[in-house]
Amino acid sequence: MAEFPGKTHIIVIGGGIIGCSTAYHLARDHKADVLLLEQGKLTSGSTWHAAGLVGQLRSSASITQVLKYSVDLYKQLKDETGLETGWKMTGCLRLACNEDRWIEYRRLATTARSFGMDMHLLSPDEVKQMWPLMETGDLVGASYLPSDGQASPSDITQSLAKGARMHGAKLIEDVRVTGFRMSGDRITHVETDRGVVECEKVVNCAGQWARQVGAMAGINVPLQPVKHQYIITEPVEGLSTDAATIRDPDRRTYFKEEVGGLAMGGYEPDPIAWTTGDVPHDFQFQLFDDDWDHFEQHLSQAIARVPALADTGVKQMINGPESFTPDGNFILGVAPECANMYVCAGFNAFGIASGGGAGWVLAEWVNSGEAPMDLWVVDILRFSGLHKDRDWVCERTLEAYGKHYTVGFPHEEYASGRPRIVSPLYDRLKARGGVFGSKLGWERPNWFAPEGMQPRDEYSMGRQNWFDAVGEEHKAVREAAGLFDQSSFAKYELSGPGAAKALDWICANHVTREPGRLTYTQMLNSRGGIECDLTVARLADDLFYIVTGTGFRTHDAAWIRSHVPAGCEARLSDVTEQWGTLSLMGPKARDILAAVTDADVSNTAFPFGHVREIAIAGHRVRALRVTYVGELGWELHMPISGAGEVFDALMAAGEPMGLRPAGYRAIESLRLEKGYRAWGADITPNDSPFEAGLGWAVKLRRNMDFMGRGAAETAASGPLRKRMAGFTTDQAGVTLLGRETILRNGEFAGYLSSGGFGYTIGKPAGYGYLRNADGVSEEWIKAGRYELVVAGERTAAQVWLEPMYDPGMVRPKS
Ligand SMILES: Cc1cc2nc3c(=O)[nH]c(=O)nc-3n(C[C@H](O)[C@H](O)[C@H](O)COP(=O)(O)OP(=O)(O)OC[C@H]3O[C@@H](n4cnc5c(N)ncnc54)[C@H](O)[C@@H]3O)c2cc1C
Repeated sequence: MAEFPGKTHIIVIGGGIIGCSTAYHLARDHKADVLLLEQGKLTSGSTWHAAGLVGQLRSSASITQVLKYSVDLYKQLKDETGLETGWKMTGCLRLACNEDRWIEYRRLATTARSFGMDMHLLSPDEVKQMWPLMETGDLVGASYLPSDGQASPSDITQSLAKGARMHGAKLIEDVRVTGFRMSGDRITHVETDRGVVECEKVVNCAGQWARQVGAMAGINVPLQPVKHQYIITEPVEGLSTDAATIRDPDRRTYFKEEVGGLAMGGYEPDPIAWTTGDVPHDFQFQLFDDDWDHFEQHLSQAIARVPALADTGVKQMINGPESFTPDGNFILGVAPECANMYVCAGFNAFGIASGGGAGWVLAEWVNSGEAPMDLWVVDILRFSGLHKDRDWVCERTLEAYGKHYTVGFPHEEYASGRPRIVSPLYDRLKARGGVFGSKLGWERPNWFAPEGMQPRDEYSMGRQNWFDAVGEEHKAVREAAGLFDQSSFAKYELSGPGAAKALDWICANHVTREPGRLTYTQMLNSRGGIECDLTVARLADDLFYIVTGTGFRTHDAAWIRSHVPAGCEARLSDVTEQWGTLSLMGPKARDILAAVTDADVSNTAFPFGHVREIAIAGHRVRALRVTYVGELGWELHMPISGAGEVFDALMAAGEPMGLRPAGYRAIESLRLEKGYRAWGADITPNDSPFEAGLGWAVKLRRNMDFMGRGAAETAASGPLRKRMAGFTTDQAGVTLLGRETILRNGEFAGYLSSGGFGYTIGKPAGYGYLRNADGVSEEWIKAGRYELVVAGERTAAQVWLEPMYDPGMVRPKS
C-alpha cells in the first residue's frame, strides 16, 4: 500500500479525467506539491464509460481556446508518457435538416472563423462522399470541423495520471475524502478514511460527487446527475475506421466509429435525472440497467440516418450517470463560501473534450489565485443562493439537457422554474403586456406587447416578433421617457472606517470623492483586465452604495470581499432584496420627477454623477443621476415595499408626458447606440480599459496605487494590439448577434463582442475589438475599409470610434 502523507501543498479530490489533468498540469507547469486522492480506482466514476467524442467550438472564445488546448495535448501526450490516448483527428460533421439549423451552422462557421478555426459548410452530396453509409436525402447541408476528433477516455486519463506522476505528483487510489477541518473560511486539513492530511489548497474534481464534497466545506456546487445512454454496435460493413464523428441534432443523435462499429447516443427531450440526494460512494465502474424504452426514440432516428444499422447487432448499451448543470456549462473556480477550495466539475457530457484544457486553466488559477483568462461563462460565481434549491436546479438542468440539440434561437429564454423571484411590480407590468425573461431567478420585463399583440416571444433566426414593439419603447425613451424596472440589480453597501481606503485600492476610478458623488468604475485584475464594471455612490464618509448587473451579484461581491486589503475595516453587505430600482430615462425625466417630489431636481441642484435622497409618494428614495441608455435620467432606488407606489406615482404623472414602461431589449438597443460596454461581452477579464476605450475612467493621473495599476500603465503607454470600435451596416435586415467576423481591407481583423439594432440610427449596430500585432492606432482604424461576415455573407460596414448617438454626452448631462 502506498505511503500516506500527513501534509501536502495541494490536494486534488477525484481521479477522473479532470482530476488527473489538473494534477498533471499542477505538477508539470508549476512543480507543485500535489496529492490526488481517488475513492475507487482512476477513471471509475463517469470517465471510463464516456463515448469519447471531442469537439472544440463553443460560443465563448475562451472556452473554445480551452477545448483547442485539449486537442493539442491529446495529440502529443503519448510522446511524453509513452501511453496512448486513442486520439484520432477524424473531424466532425454536424448535419442540418432544416433552414433554421442551416442558418445556425452558417453563423457557427463564422464564429469558428472568428475564433481562428476553419469550419467548412458542405452540400449533401459532399457529405455523402465523405460518409457513404449515411442517408443524406433530408439534409440541407452540414458543417465540418476537420480538427475535431475522438479519443479513448480511460487511456487519456491513465496517460495524464502517468504524466502527473512523472512530474512528481502523488496519486493514491482507494482513499475517500470524508470531511474538512476549517479555520474560518479556509480548509486546513482534509479528512480521509486513511487519515488526516494538512494542506494549503483543495481542488474538488469529484465529478457527480462534487456537490456533496463541496457541501462538506459549506460550498454549493449546483449540478445534477442525469442518466445518459449510448450503444455500441457490432461492426458495420463499409464503415471507415477514420469516419468523421457525426452530430445529427435534428434527429437528436450522435455517432462515432468504435472498433469497426458505431457508438451512437442522443439527447432526449425527456431526460431522466438520477438522484437529487447523495450519490453513493461505491458507485464505481457501475452502470444503470439498460433502458431500451427510453432509448427507442434514438434507434429509429439513427436507422433513418444510417440504414445499415437496421441489420447490425448491438454489442453493448452504456447507461451511465453524468453531471449536468442548469445552463449547460461546466463549473470552475473558487466558491464564495470557502477561500481555498477550487471546483472543476459538472461537465455536461463534454468532460473528455474539456479535460485537457480545463485542467490547464484550473492549475494556473490554483497556482496564482487568479483566473488566467476570461472564464466567466464557467465560473462558479455565476450562480447565487437560488442554486442551493436542489429541486429547482434539477428542473432547470433537465430543461437545459433537453435543449442540448434543439436549434439555438437568439434571445431564447428558459421556461422551467419560473416565475421564481419577482419584483413588487410584476403584476402591474404583466397587466401592461410585459413579456419577461429570467436572470439569476429574477423575472425581468424584456418588452411590452402593445394592444392586440400576444405577449410572448416567437423565436426565429431573423427579426423576431417583438422587433417593432421594442422599437416603440426605444423611441419613447429618446423622445419622452421610459420607466424600467431594474429591481434585480445587485446592490451592496460597503461600510466602516476602512471602506474608502478599500475602494481606493480596488477601484480603477476615483470613487472616494465627497459624499453625494457617484462614480462609474472598473475593478482590474493583476493583468489590468476588467473584472467588474459598476457604479459606486458615496452616501457618507464611511458608507458606499454599489450597484452592478443582476447576473454579477455573486461574482462582484466575491471580488470586492476578497480584495479588501488586510487590516482595512470594511464590511460588504448584499442589500439586493431590500431595494427596488426604477430607472426613469428620457428627455422628460426631469419634468416627471419634479411632478412627484418636492426635491430640487434641476441640473444645478442635482447634476449628473450625483446621488441624493429624495421623497416620492411618501417613500425615501435614493436617486442616482446616471444612465446606461444615453439620456437624461435617474435610477431611483427605494425600499422594495415602496416600489409599487413609486411606480404608480411616476406613471400617473408621466403618462400624459409620454412616459411608458420599457424593457431590457430596449435597454440593449439604447446602450448599443450610445456605446456603453456590457461586462461579460464587450469587456471581460481579458480586456483592459484602454483597449475598451474606457481609459478615461482609470485614475492614472492620481498619485495612488490601486489594483492593476502596473498593468494599466503599460497598456496606457501603448501601443495597443487591440482596440474596441463600433460597427454599423446599412443593410437594415441583417441580424447582428455578436461573434460576427470583422474584415479590414478584406482581411480578418477581429469579431463582434455584441450586436443588435439601433432604432434611432435605424441600423444594425455592434462592437468588437480590432486586432493587429503591429498596433491599432486611430489612424490605422480610420484608414481601413470594413466588412462584417454575418452567417457567411459579407456586408459592408462603417467603423465608429465615437458613440453613434450623442457623442458629446449632451443629453445625459442636460
Ligand atoms: C454515457 C456517457 C457518454 C459520454 N460521452 C462523452 C463524450 O463523448 N465526450 C465527452 O467529452 N464527454 C462525454 N461524457 C462525459 C464525461 O464522461 C464526463 O464529463 C467526464 O468523465 C467527467 O470527468 P470527471 O473527472 O469530472 O468525473 P469522474 O470521472 O466521475 O471523476 C470523479 C472522481 O471523483 C472520485 N470521488 C468522488 N468523491 C470522492 C471522495 N469523497 N474522495 C475521493 N474521490 C472521490 C470518484 O470516485 C470519481 O472517480 C459522457 C458521459 C456519459 C455518462
